Amino acid sequence: MRDIQHFVNGAAVAGQSGRFGDVFDPNTGEVQAHVALADAGELGTAVQAAARAQIGWAATNPQRRARVMFEFKRLVEARMDELANLLSSEHGKVVADSRGDIQRGLEVIEFACGIPHALKGEYTEGAGPGIDVYSMRQPLGVVAGITPFNFPAMIPMWMFGVAIAVGNSFILKPSEKDPSVPVRLGELFMEAGGPAGILNVVHGDKVCVDAILAHPDIRAVSFVGSSDIAQYVYATGTSHGKRVQAMGGAKNHAIIMPDADLDQTVNDIMGAAYGSAGERCMALPVAVPVGSKTAEALRERLLDEIETLKIGVSSDAAAQYGPVVTAAHRQKITDYIQLGVDEGAELVVDGRDFKLQGFEAGFFIGPNLFDHVKPEMRTYQEEIFGPVLQLVRAESFEEAVALPSKHQYGNGVAIFTRNGRAAREFAARVEVGMVGINVPIPVPVAYHSFGGWKRSAFGDANQHGMEGVRFFTKVKTVTARWPEGMSEDSAFVIPTMQ
Ligand code: NAD
Repeated sequence: MRDIQHFVNGAAVAGQSGRFGDVFDPNTGEVQAHVALADAGELGTAVQAAARAQIGWAATNPQRRARVMFEFKRLVEARMDELANLLSSEHGKVVADSRGDIQRGLEVIEFACGIPHALKGEYTEGAGPGIDVYSMRQPLGVVAGITPFNFPAMIPMWMFGVAIAVGNSFILKPSEKDPSVPVRLGELFMEAGGPAGILNVVHGDKVCVDAILAHPDIRAVSFVGSSDIAQYVYATGTSHGKRVQAMGGAKNHAIIMPDADLDQTVNDIMGAAYGSAGERCMALPVAVPVGSKTAEALRERLLDEIETLKIGVSSDAAAQYGPVVTAAHRQKITDYIQLGVDEGAELVVDGRDFKLQGFEAGFFIGPNLFDHVKPEMRTYQEEIFGPVLQLVRAESFEEAVALPSKHQYGNGVAIFTRNGRAAREFAARVEVGMVGINVPIPVPVAYHSFGGWKRSAFGDANQHGMEGVRFFTKVKTVTARWPEGMSEDSAFVIPTMQ
């Protein structure tokens, strides 16, 4: 059985705690590897190495740090196939989705290649008589990132791409469910010329997370995962005096106005609801058709499309989605489907009995469609994170704006319409952090910033872009006045005509 080790100070390090986690192949249901789970002592050793390395890295000029990022991007691109296959084999998403996972992370690395520009600071000449004021952004020191299973390449790169480029060293605690690609990223960073100790990968569970939150030398923690844990990480990390950003769960709505281009809309919703088996924080698990005519037409088209969905193993290039990540997660999804039935929603398509021939023990689940879901139902209020689409019928635009606005989550939302005025008003009023107008998954490009509202994000700094630069640096402002007149010493060094 393969053992997945930590990657600390530029080398693989075997686990010392004696605790290991199972890493499954979701296609077969078999355990394919064991991952070491770190304790506080192992985390402490990594932090020591990171703190030592950070001093020299912070003193390295930003264009040299950017060159390492540039080479890292080149190496990851060169190994795209190897990394995407490895990612799929532990996560279960199809290889095309794994490539997308890596590609979206690389876009943040591209942003990091321009870090000298982002770090230029500000300058005011003559803020007072003979007084100049300038501010600079300095790295924090050792910082940490704790990431979820669903984007094991993109989300680590969101965090360490910016954090390292600005001069910090980084402890990555990836999800213990699919930890291999994060380790490969650490190795490739070294190969790209990154110094040992700048990007460390320490595997673990709650024990390791708690050690990160309490460690006095870790200055900031960036977290992405489910909301209850995000809230816990935010509260615990800030109580230890750390800067914390903690992104949580989601329940994104698609609003379908009567004038929407229904062909395009259905195509977009199918991809956003069922792609990656619904295991995306920017998935669209709720569709809100406005008016009964829209609802009937949408339901009919969705049923046609669902019939043609192809589910397969993650290496099957023709499959639209693969298995979910673990048997426990599959069980959670099927429990929610049963709850939806018990709550009185109409289960129009039931994917619970789906079996893939030859892979009966894999964690597969077919597509599911609920109609007549009501806002008071738990299955509407909570995140399911599986291939389950819920139709919540609205009578008016006002009702449609209110649904995502009142929901506990506020990550993403999309409106499908041909009416620019309705779209504009929707974008202005809806209480959600990321809005798509005829765009189903409005993940901002790397040089903008990613972040939701309400229980989808704790703390006030978004991921990547200039928000990321601000999160991973502290501002120092210098107010300077120089003595008037030339001293004899300066007259000596300034050449004159005499
Ligand atoms: P998770 O909350 O179970 O795990 C996230 C991280 O927290 C992992 O590294 C895990 O090891 C650690 N962890 C787990 N239990 C812990 C505990 N009790 N105490 C401390 N740490 C703990 O999330 P997941 O299942 O890996 O990922 C899916 C979730 O992440 C979904 O809720 C999804 O919406 C969310 N997500 C959010 C975003 C976003 O940007 N808002 C992006 C991707 C995923």
